[in-house]
Amino acid sequence: MRSHPAIVLPLLLIVAGCGAIPQSQPSGRVAREAAAPAVSLARPEARQCQTELGQTGSMFAPLPDKFYGAGCSTTNSVKLDGIGGDRRQFTVTNLGVVACPLANSFAGWARYGVDRAAQQILGSPLVRIETMGSYSCRNVAGTGRLSAHSRAEAIDVAAFVLADGRRISVKSGWNAGRDEREFLRTIHTSACKRFGTVLGPDYNQAHQDHFHLEYGAGTYCR
Ligand SMILES: [Zn+2]
Repeated sequence: MRSHPAIVLPLLLIVAGCGAIPQSQPSGRVAREAAAPAVSLARPEARQCQTELGQTGSMFAPLPDKFYGAGCSTTNSVKLDGIGGDRRQFTVTNLGVVACPLANSFAGWARYGVDRAAQQILGSPLVRIETMGSYSCRNVAGTGRLSAHSRAEAIDVAAFVLADGRRISVKSGWNAGRDEREFLRTIHTSACKRFGTVLGPDYNQAHQDHFHLEYGAGTYCR
């Protein structure tokens, strides 16, 4: 009986001591240190772009800036998981990392260009856009100039899937029946209003199976 308090008391002190150590640290500084990796994402232009992308009803995750050497980098970029539409979200396949301003243009094009053209011309709404990706550290073919893909500022789009199950690809649809032709030409034209450079099957053989949609101030549309 008498030995019990002598054993228990030191144990209680140890337990109390363990609990007291973290509580005595300034919790505000701990919280700021934990948030440190997000600082580069919080630059004003990144924050502004992410706010705008959120307002489109899109689902995305901001990504940390990365520099790959050879002039290739992805900054102010996101992983885009879904694009907000009038009545549903569209999925985007095979995109990978994409620059946020380009994601914004892409979200606007998908909703106001592609989905509405699909409903009006093909009678069924858009559910999915299939891409051939965005980021790729490479030059513009045949030149020593870095492609916009080296900054994730271009997306190559291959096909569109509608709610009724139809899949319209650039490759087989560009010269297919009247409706598919009209649909692809309509969304190509609307892309030219939202992107700096748009290249498709009429540009050259290398683009016969996709639209190249590039962010920027240019107005090259072919
Ligand atoms: Zn491209």
